[in-house]
Amino acid sequence: MEEMLEEMLLERYIAYQIECKDDGPDARYVFEFDIQSAGLRKKLKDHTLKRKNAKSSDQKLINMLGTAMTKGELRAQRNIRFLNMTPDQQAFIRKVLRDSFTQKELELMGKGGLVVRVIPVKEGTYGEYCRKQRGMETPEIHLSHELNEDTIAHEFIHHIRTVDEVRVGFSRTAYKIVNGTYDKTFYNANESDIHNFEEAATVAETTARTKGPATSISGYYDYVGEVSRKEAYDSDRKRLTGNPQSIDINKTKGIKGKAATNCINEEFAKTHIASMVMNGRTALNSYYILNQKQ
Ligand SMILES: [Zn+2]
Repeated sequence: MEEMLEEMLLERYIAYQIECKDDGPDARYVFEFDIQSAGLRKKLKDHTLKRKNAKSSDQKLINMLGTAMTKGELRAQRNIRFLNMTPDQQAFIRKVLRDSFTQKELELMGKGGLVVRVIPVKEGTYGEYCRKQRGMETPEIHLSHELNEDTIAHEFIHHIRTVDEVRVGFSRTAYKIVNGTYDKTFYNANESDIHNFEEAATVAETTARTKGPATSISGYYDYVGEVSRKEAYDSDRKRLTGNPQSIDINKTKGIKGKAATNCINEEFAKTHIASMVMNGRTALNSYYILNQKQ
């Protein structure tokens, strides 16, 4: 079946490419891009022309900034809204998401709504996850402009730990979730244990998922003690990507989907980050204390 691509300019800044089959109005949303500059609009035109001339078996859509994404990969992210950022930043974030999560996981993350912004965050941090609560119906991820793979994955992992209802054990959020919103009373009574465990488990899952080892190791490794942060991270990275300790750290590849959540549930207790001490006890102890109260 011949496929044709049409370009439609909607409103001022957003372009949608709609794919049409020749036997009917089977128009599907395939691509959204921020095209604020004339240069980018020209690139989009060139790209669309190239795509029209390409063979219909060519499933790759190349975005204008050089990240090759398939239609399926873009579609999986369609309900995540990227605001307050440059096209380069958006392309970088989308790529990290594609690399660190399965399409099914990305679908789930966007399902109830999710907004991502690149804006100044609290001093000393690179990102924050603003949970759904009264006055904030759509959860938001805020990232500082110093984007790196680890920070991006970390904030999205806070989100998926919260919205993925089939998760159990260490891979499930420390917050008590009632009808999609966290229980404030439970939070106020257990704030330090919740932070202690939630951050450690999120760091562990980030360590498992990033495509390559971290270029900038999470600050939470400062609270591990005993061994250096680099030694602790490298050891956890090897363990959580299912590798022996003897492997070269640069040869470790991230895992995602069920492989990642199963690994966290099986291996977290043995990691260095589980022994992180904030507020007087280890993250692992905080987990057991919270579990008794839930
Ligand atoms: Zn965090």
